Amino acid sequence: MSGAVVPTIGCGAAGRVAPLQGELTLSFLNRLAARYHLTIRDLLAAVTDVGGLQNLTGMLYPDSEIHLNAQARNRVATLCRVAPHVLERALPAWTREEPCGKYGDGPVGRLTRGEEAVAAWGPACPACAAARTGRRTPARRYLAPEERVCARHQFWLLYVPGTSGLPVPLGRCPEVIEAQQRHVRLLRRSPTGAQAFEVARAVTGFWWESWPDEEELWPDRLEATRADGADANRWKVSARDLITYPETIAIAQVLASPHWQQQTIAEARGHLPYRLGEMPALLDELARQLQRPWVARHLATVTRGPLFVWAHACVRTRLAPRSTARHALWQVHSSHRPRSLSDFLDVQGSRDEAGLPAPQPVKRLRGNSLQAERAFDKGLAHARLYHQQHG
Ligand SMILES: [Zn+2]
Repeated sequence: MSGAVVPTIGCGAAGRVAPLQGELTLSFLNRLAARYHLTIRDLLAAVTDVGGLQNLTGMLYPDSEIHLNAQARNRVATLCRVAPHVLERALPAWTREEPCGKYGDGPVGRLTRGEEAVAAWGPACPACAAARTGRRTPARRYLAPEERVCARHQFWLLYVPGTSGLPVPLGRCPEVIEAQQRHVRLLRRSPTGAQAFEVARAVTGFWWESWPDEEELWPDRLEATRADGADANRWKVSARDLITYPETIAIAQVLASPHWQQQTIAEARGHLPYRLGEMPALLDELARQLQRPWVARHLATVTRGPLFVWAHACVRTRLAPRSTARHALWQVHSSHRPRSLSDFLDVQGSRDEAGLPAPQPVKRLRGNSLQAERAFDKGLAHARLYHQQHG
């Protein structure tokens, strides 16, 4: 190992530090630094030192991740005394990129930022991480949608841009924990469960933008989960995916069900739908699963949005039963995808007592997205017309 600083740390002097499964590389380096009683900056300096110069680009934030080249990875492996293949298996971003340095050859690190940099992540469950590592140092992990809940310790593992994430106690929301169990079962039983979840997430995201006065569960859940010191407005923006999760799973279960797909096709009676009210049985089932009788009435007049697009695509699978039509059933149009929280929160600005950033004026849909949405709606109307004329 070269570099002046690394030998002074002493290779593996703090004992073996193992990565958590699915951990962010920078989270692992944070824990490694803590074990050596170093700051993360000192550790990064040691890992990327080239003859006294630091081969490190990017800025360090609470939501940063790091890409290391092979030489920097070797230094880390020596320091933590874990075999490189074990690190590669545990850390999803470990060999994802080979960054180039400012100072020629040698170890290199490149910092990136946010959820978009590699994949969705959140804080590791603090109780699970403590049990696994024997320490209280917080950690961050890449999370699949069904991993947002630690059912055992009753935490929602919330991603908040600009922070290292917030574990939210779920003691007052047993329905969220129960939804996660249904989520796992759905993925196990249905080959389209993961896709149905994405469509359902778009549906609840769409509703989240303006829910009707009849909605009582979401405001209650917002209050029941709000972190100590969290400002109500900031919390409402940050907690969207947590608050809507039980409803997202309930909708995903209906959409993934072959019975309800058949029922939707049967209700359309060979015509592409003009509004959701043409599928009363589907709406009643959704209202029943969501435990909100008023939902059916509200949905009946809907002629756009992700649920309407799904119903439309579902009927088309019958009219054009090719694999492309089946594929279209699970497509979420870009304008219907829930927007990233970093669009809503000002990560550079002030924080409240819970560490949440302030909401920022929401940028309107960019011109091309707006245009794309209009074109998409027009395309649906055109398909309906074509079908009426030509069958
Ligand atoms: Zn846990």
